Amino acid sequence: MIFKKQLTNKNEKPLFIILIAMLIIVLLLMGLLVMILNQNSIFYARILATSFIAVLFVVVILLISTVITIGQLWYNNHMSIYSKRIIQLNLRIFYPAMIVIGKVFGIMKDDIRKIYAELNNKLILADKYGIKGEDILILTPHCLQKSFCPHKITHDIYNCKRCGKCDVDQLIYLKDKYNVHFKIATGGTLARKMIKEINPKVIIAIACERDLISGLQDVKKIPVIAIINNRPEGPCINTNVNIIEVEKAIKHFIKE
Ligand code: SF4
Repeated sequence: MIFKKQLTNKNEKPLFIILIAMLIIVLLLMGLLVMILNQNSIFYARILATSFIAVLFVVVILLISTVITIGQLWYNNHMSIYSKRIIQLNLRIFYPAMIVIGKVFGIMKDDIRKIYAELNNKLILADKYGIKGEDILILTPHCLQKSFCPHKITHDIYNCKRCGKCDVDQLIYLKDKYNVHFKIATGGTLARKMIKEINPKVIIAIACERDLISGLQDVKKIPVIAIINNRPEGPCINTNVNIIEVEKAIKHFIKE
């Protein structure tokens, strides 16, 4: 329970605002199309308007179901597998529109991505797993390693000399303790290759908001816990991660 509070928090309000705004826009569009239909427009225009109304009607249903399921998550109510799948699918579908509409409301992209990651984590944490450590993959970006470190650890993490100056040291400790996989990827292509080779049952991904969401959209069939890294020196250099969160994620997958 404490872990769920650490990996997630209840700040989905901006997401609700965006979803309600999308709903209003779609309803307005539907109203406009109905007006076109009621005028003496030509036959093809009427067919086109009817088709658009049908599509928009589906969008309205999806938006309403998303708002309801997020509300359920918000209040930690029981959620069926069916509802979880709906919300995962809908978030993927609406993500690009959410970014655009969020901009109109002055909501930063990274804030929307953060909420997306939090909702994703809530959905993953609502499930029980009980898998072995070897079925877990911890995937991190290269920027976790100190920029002054001369050791090449992307191909073999055991090239790390365990000086303790970056979190690679602690992640190797967790790898050995729980017998999980730990890989450092220099980009999306390498990350995808590693996932294919290891074929994990779950992934603990550590990265910035942008990379995490692109990864979540990529990896559809494997549950992914998304942990946002800290960037005290700016993006892509000397980043770090909350090791306690990573360990608790491992324990959740192994024990619960
Ligand atoms: S722990 Fe030390 S040796 Fe290992 S990667 Fe980090 S800086 Fe390099």
